[in-house]
Amino acid sequence: MVEAINKALKESSEHHEHSVFENNGVPFSELQNAHARAQGDLQKLTDTKDAALSDAKLLHSIINQISDLVFAKDTNGRILVGSEAMARYYGLESAQELYGKTIFDLRGEDEAHRIHNIEQEILAGGEPMVDVDEEFIDASGDEKWIQITKVPMKDGNGKIIGLIGIARDITERKHNESVLEAERVLFRTMIDQVPDYLFFKDTESRFVISNRALAADLGRLPTDLIGKTDFSFHEEKLANKFYADEQQIVSTGESLINLEEMVVDFTGAEKWFSASKVPLRDVHGKIIGIVGVCRDITDRKDSEERLHFMAMHDALTHLPNRTLLVDRLEQGIKQKERTDGQLTVLFIDLDNFKIVNDSLGHDAGDTLIKAVADRLIASVRSSDTVARLGGDEFVILLIDQDNPISDTAPIIERLRASIAEPFIIEGQKFQVTCSIGGATFPNDGTDTTTLLKNADIAMYKAKEGGRDNVVFYNSAMNN
Ligand code: GH3
Ligand code: MG
Repeated sequence: MVEAINKALKESSEHHEHSVFENNGVPFSELQNAHARAQGDLQKLTDTKDAALSDAKLLHSIINQISDLVFAKDTNGRILVGSEAMARYYGLESAQELYGKTIFDLRGEDEAHRIHNIEQEILAGGEPMVDVDEEFIDASGDEKWIQITKVPMKDGNGKIIGLIGIARDITERKHNESVLEAERVLFRTMIDQVPDYLFFKDTESRFVISNRALAADLGRLPTDLIGKTDFSFHEEKLANKFYADEQQIVSTGESLINLEEMVVDFTGAEKWFSASKVPLRDVHGKIIGIVGVCRDITDRKDSEERLHFMAMHDALTHLPNRTLLVDRLEQGIKQKERTDGQLTVLFIDLDNFKIVNDSLGHDAGDTLIKAVADRLIASVRSSDTVARLGGDEFVILLIDQDNPISDTAPIIERLRASIAEPFIIEGQKFQVTCSIGGATFPNDGTDTTTLLKNADIAMYKAKEGGRDNVVFYNSAMNN
């Protein structure tokens, strides 16, 4: 229209330069004014168009600068504008090529349908889709991950006229995440394979990580332990000990290595552990928790205990042997020295024991020795000691007497009576007697060697006197 007016004005001025009343009665001056207005309007339009063009250019250059995929689509899913990064993703030469395309031109049919449906939902409901991770194969066949946000685009009246999308390539992050996940799985598998207890606790002694072995002995899963302390799983005394140890590590930064701890598992079984706990530090050296490794040493402890028992006891009767007897006698002497008390050592040897061995064999002899041991134990207090020195020789320490002078004789009678009861060995009845020699602390000796030697001497006097007899040591016997 403006062009038509311009043309008309130009022709008028050429043909009617001096006429003011021409052009169908419209004064020429008015036509000139209209021309001027039209030219002004034209300029404004041109300015606006230029401004719009430069705005669009600016917008394009901005979205093309950023590495994210940016686009706007109309309500039919046709791309109105898309960034260079987006074009590259779809293997197109330039952003212009995106114009007018829909997702069906860019993706496989199933994917396109899925995306189209999501976009239609956003357009219908006005609810944006924020930061959704999507995997797809790009134009060059590479597996890519993008994180995508789509929001409805509205006009001045709030009417939805399309949608705006922005998508970020998160392939590297996803890759890093999957590496981390693989590492996590590997770590988990490794620590769960280990039969030792492995754990990491925070500075408040709360479990952060524990392996399967530890959790299983507590009757739990590793995840059940997270955030809990030993107070949830052990009796208070033990939990207190663990807590104190760990807090010491946190405050001093010093490790505790190979502590031997006895722990009761959830079935009530006692287990021994060699526990090492070390502080765990962050990159700045700050202590952030405790790492613990506990190895089950129950078998070792059991065999140590067995060896210790065997070193101190007789294999046949399990009575204390000479080593333990001497130890107990030393303790007894010390105790009686403090209290000005007395104690009695009785040396007991069976009479004619060889006959049993010779007539019934060695095993029958063993059976008799064990039976004698049981009767001797039953005849004294548990705080007294019944020991076997070997063969048919026993020693009894009478330590726990209320009145050593008057009590000893009845105890000896009880011992003899218990031996005198017939034994049935392999169906045969045996009548057994014994010879007993006694020595008393402090009268007959003040050390273990002297007391044992003098009781032995007295026992031989009892044998000499015809057996089945009791003799107490006196100093004349040494001659
Ligand atoms: P005495 O009255 O003089 O004590 O005569 P005895 O026959 O009891 O003989 P003695 O005490 O001198 O010797 C004990 C015998 O016990 C010697 C040995 O043959 C036998 N003996 C030693 N150790 C064992 C053992 O572990 N088992 C068995 N069955 N016999 C043993
Ligand atoms: Mg004998």
